[in-house]
Amino acid sequence: MSKTFDIGLETLTGGAGLSIGAEKVGPAVEAPELGTLRGTFFLETFGCQMNDHDSEKVAGVLLSRGYRQVESPDAASLILYNTCSIREKAAQKVFSRLGEFGLQPNDGRIIGVLGCVAQQEGENIFKRAPWVSLVCGSASYSKLPELLAQVEAGNQRVTGLDNDTDETFETPVTRRDNPWRAYLTIIEGCDKACSYCVVPYTRGPERSRGSDSILREVRELAELGYSEVQLLGQTVNSYKDPTARKMKFSELLLAVADEPGIRRVRFTTSHPRDFSHDIVDAIDAQPKLCNHVHLPVQSGSTRVLHAMQRTYSLEEYLEKIAMIRGAKRSISITTDIIVGFPGETDEDFAETVSLLETVKYDGVFSFKYSPRPHTPSLKMNDAIPEEEKGRRLTLLQEKQREIQTIRHLSMVGETFETQVSAKSRRENQWSGHTSCHRVINFASQEPMLLGKYVQVRVTGATPNGLAGEQAP
Ligand code: SAM
Ligand code: SF4
Repeated sequence: MSKTFDIGLETLTGGAGLSIGAEKVGPAVEAPELGTLRGTFFLETFGCQMNDHDSEKVAGVLLSRGYRQVESPDAASLILYNTCSIREKAAQKVFSRLGEFGLQPNDGRIIGVLGCVAQQEGENIFKRAPWVSLVCGSASYSKLPELLAQVEAGNQRVTGLDNDTDETFETPVTRRDNPWRAYLTIIEGCDKACSYCVVPYTRGPERSRGSDSILREVRELAELGYSEVQLLGQTVNSYKDPTARKMKFSELLLAVADEPGIRRVRFTTSHPRDFSHDIVDAIDAQPKLCNHVHLPVQSGSTRVLHAMQRTYSLEEYLEKIAMIRGAKRSISITTDIIVGFPGETDEDFAETVSLLETVKYDGVFSFKYSPRPHTPSLKMNDAIPEEEKGRRLTLLQEKQREIQTIRHLSMVGETFETQVSAKSRRENQWSGHTSCHRVINFASQEPMLLGKYVQVRVTGATPNGLAGEQAP
C-alpha cells in the first residue's frame, strides 16, 4: 500500500523517533566485536505495515541474540531484506539490491532474504544470487532463532519455507520504530482467495493470536508509554479468537481500548465480507476507537469483482458503506483499487470511477494490476496493455484528488484532536494525525509537542492533508 494518507516520521523528525522507540523497548545490548558473526545487522523493509511490523519483531529477535542494528549494509556483518512481492516492481527491487553484492568480493558477510519474495522464489534465490545464505518466508518466522543459529554456525544454504503452519510469530522482544504508536499483528496469513493476490501463497493460512496474549501485550505497551495501538492483519476483521474466551473482533477492539493508558485504537485491513454491524456499534460506543475504516473495494464492477473472487457484489459492498455512514460518529473511509484487471472493459472502469463519486472516499490507494506467480488470474485472457492501465490509473487518481480537495476544504474551521508525531524543520511547525487518520500540519509556539495530543483548528487544505494552528 502506498503511504499518501500517512506520513514518514523520519522525514520530519530526522529519525529522532527511531532511537526513542528503540530505547524504550530494546534490551540492553552489549557492543559486539566487529568482524564476528554476533555483530551488526542491517535490515531493510519493503512493502506494507505488516512487513514493517514483522521487521520490528525480527530486529527484536536479533537484538536479543546480541546483535546491534546499523544504518547501512556496509557497516553490517548480517544484511537482511524483508521483501514484498504484492506487485512485480516491489519484487524486482530486492533483486536489484542483491545484485549489488554480486559485484563485490565475498568478504564473509551474511546476506538473507526474508518475507514474501523469499516464500515466492524459495531456493531459486540461491541460484539467482549465490551469495545469499538465508531464505525465510514470513510463515516460518517463528523458527527464525533456529535458522539464525544455523547461519551463525556457517551453514551456507539455510531455508525456512514451510507455509503450512498454525503458528503465529510472537517474540519476547520487539524493537518498535515509533515511540507512540505500536503495531500489533492479531491475525496472520489469509484464507481468502482473491484471484490476483499472492498473499495466501506467501503468508500461508489464516491464524489468529489468542486474545489473552494480545491484551497482555497491549497492557505492557501502555506501561511503556504507547498511547496508540494499531491492530494488523491482512483481513483483520476475520479475527477468530483461538482461546476459550472466543472474543469477537468488536469485543477485542473494546477490550484493547479499555486498557489504562491506551488513547487510540486503529485496525487494518478490513475485508468487506466480514465487516459487520457490531464493529460500527463499537466505534460509536467507544471514542478511543478511531473513526476510520480502511475497506478495500478493488473494483466498482460486480463482473470484475466476481472475476477477482472478492466474494461480494458492488451492491453488497455499498450496503457495508451505508452501514458505516449510518454511524452516529462521522467515520472516514479509505479503500484500495486495482485498475486494468484482465478483461476490465471501459464500462467496468467507468463503474469504478462512478463508485468514487458515490462513496466520496477520504483516501484511495490505487494500483495497476500486476500479474503475480501462483495466482489464478495469471492464466486469464484479455490482459490490458500497460499504457491503458496507466491511463486509467491517472484518470482515477485525478478524480480522487478532486474529491479529496473538496472534502478537505469543507473541514476548514473545524477543530480536531491531533496526535503530534513529527516536528518540521520549519520553526514552530508540527505534524500529526487526527483520529480519522488525516495528516495535519500545524503551527504552534509550544517548545515540545512530540507524542502529545493537542486540539488543532483547520485553516487550510490540500488534496492530501490539512493545515492548521493549535487551538487554545
Ligand atoms: N487483504 C487486503 C484486502 O483484502 O484488501 C489487502 C492486502 S494487499 C497487501 C494490499 C493491496 O494490494 C490490495 O488491496 C490490492 O489493492 C493490491 N494488490 C494485491 N495484489 C495485487 C496485484 N496483483 N496487482 C496490483 N495490486 C495488487
Ligand atoms: Fe490478498 Fe484477498 Fe487475502 Fe487481501 S483478502 S490478502 S487481497 S487474498
